[in-house]
Amino acid sequence: MPLANGRRSLSIPGPSVFPDAVLQAMHRPAINIYDGELVEMAYSLFPDLQKVARTTDTPLIYICNGHGAWEASIVNTLDEGDKVLVLESGRFAVGWGEMAEAFGVQVEYLNAPDRAGVDPQMVEDRLRADINHEIKAVLVVQIDTASGVWNDIAAIRKAIDAAGHPALYMVDCMASLGCVPYEHLEWGVDVTTSGCQKGLMTPPGLGFLHVSDKAKAVRNQLKRGSFYWDWNRRMDPEMFYENFCGTAPVQHIYGLRKALDMIMDEGLEAVWDRHATIGAGVRAAVAQWGQDGPLEMNIRDDAECSNSVSAILTGSIDPESLRSVAEAQLGVTLGNGLGQFAASTFRIGHMGHVNAPMILGTLGVVEIALANIGAPFTSGGVEAAAKAMAGGVA
Ligand SMILES: *Cc1c(COP(=O)(O)O)cnc(C)c1O
Repeated sequence: MPLANGRRSLSIPGPSVFPDAVLQAMHRPAINIYDGELVEMAYSLFPDLQKVARTTDTPLIYICNGHGAWEASIVNTLDEGDKVLVLESGRFAVGWGEMAEAFGVQVEYLNAPDRAGVDPQMVEDRLRADINHEIKAVLVVQIDTASGVWNDIAAIRKAIDAAGHPALYMVDCMASLGCVPYEHLEWGVDVTTSGCQKGLMTPPGLGFLHVSDKAKAVRNQLKRGSFYWDWNRRMDPEMFYENFCGTAPVQHIYGLRKALDMIMDEGLEAVWDRHATIGAGVRAAVAQWGQDGPLEMNIRDDAECSNSVSAILTGSIDPESLRSVAEAQLGVTLGNGLGQFAASTFRIGHMGHVNAPMILGTLGVVEIALANIGAPFTSGGVEAAAKAMAGGVA
């Protein structure tokens, strides 16, 4: 007897679950886009976007998804023939690198150790060997949404500095901003790319960049340019519309305003703590399930596991059977494995608007689905998660 009817639950790592309040804020007709309320509201986003990324520069808001933010980061920092070092730890940094290749950039990939995060020592060694400083930028993701790894962005900064290398440091925070600690300014990041549809709880459509003075100077030396993606006019607009190179994303501005209000009301650190507790709950459940059977976290060391998305290795268990039972019979859509992880993992998204009953419900559904497909596992994952999460309650 299927148990799917009721409120359906989306447990994929982006788009995330959008708060009703955000959706309601967006449900309105367009208003004057030249002056008045909309202009004030758009500019009111800037200080809160700065707070979320912990920086003081003027944020750039592009009308696009995460791939658009990537493209903006590339066309403003790299010329054809330039070389970049892409620190790969899953799937997403490769995607960013492939986009750079499309612009004629030479891309070298440095792989993280198997089932682990980027090794800062390997980065330092590679950069030390680049004695002529041919590498113009180092690209890395804070959280890789395919492998579930959480890279140490501060430690990689130190590795770049230890090598005395001048490359721009570019960090993708698409799956991590508003979920785990991030310090654009303190960690000396030159370009941060992110989007609104994961930790920032707003329907897909806005990409964000934060850029350093060093990156701005690089932009001004480039041979090739872009009109739409160029950040210069957007940073220093004469007219409001130039912030967006055209019509402002009216409804998204209202939605993001509400989402940022919710984050600020909860407190950014409290948001990070909530994600940490929920992430620990998921890992406790997976450890319990794997007592007897093949299930385990894809990333070996819990300290390197993301608090916004978990990729779970399934071994002999077919992840697609598990996902289809969960979706069709139990009302929960789980994340599929991506790229090289497609046949070996499923994923649970726990970013943004996620609370205790939502994650415990998802874990309970995974447990029912595992039993339903006759998978080898140890029950009690939900109880283990509840115990792990109890410590996170004040
Ligand atoms: C989701 C995601 C992207 C891409 O975002 P799109 O909106 O799908 O273009 C890039 N990087 C990471 C780490 C992501 O999680």
